[in-house]
Amino acid sequence: MVVNGKGPYDSQNIFAKILRGEIPCAKVFENDWVLAFNDIAPKAPVHVLIIPRNAYVSFMDFSSTAPAEEIAGVMQAAGEVARHMGLEENGYRLITNAGRDSGQEVPHFHLHLLGGKALPAFPI
Ligand code: 5GP
Repeated sequence: MVVNGKGPYDSQNIFAKILRGEIPCAKVFENDWVLAFNDIAPKAPVHVLIIPRNAYVSFMDFSSTAPAEEIAGVMQAAGEVARHMGLEENGYRLITNAGRDSGQEVPHFHLHLLGGKALPAFPI
């Protein structure tokens, strides 16, 4: 189901449940700001979802309401995850779907980290 990327935040969304440990995930990294885990339907050899621990519906919400310290923390963590996954040598793609036109399906802000092969040109 495609979501509108705007509030209110649905605390029953699948990533909220993963954050609370109610459903499992294949975790690859975590720190104070984020949890990162493998996408259940990977679109590339490496497809990791990086999500903030705090509740944001989409990038629209995150970029307009998160404190600068948290925005920096999440973006730095994304770089760290890419290094951790061994993607620095050949590069990677970092994208986020925000709102209906993007096809966003899960209403908790997340970054997709894609790599491990030469990716097709947009649209992916
Ligand atoms: P969106 O379209 O919202 O940007 O991306 C949502 C992503 O979450 C999709 O790539 C989808 O495969 C992934 N996803 C959906 N449900 C689950 C789940 O229960 N576990 C994991 N690990 N990924 C999920």
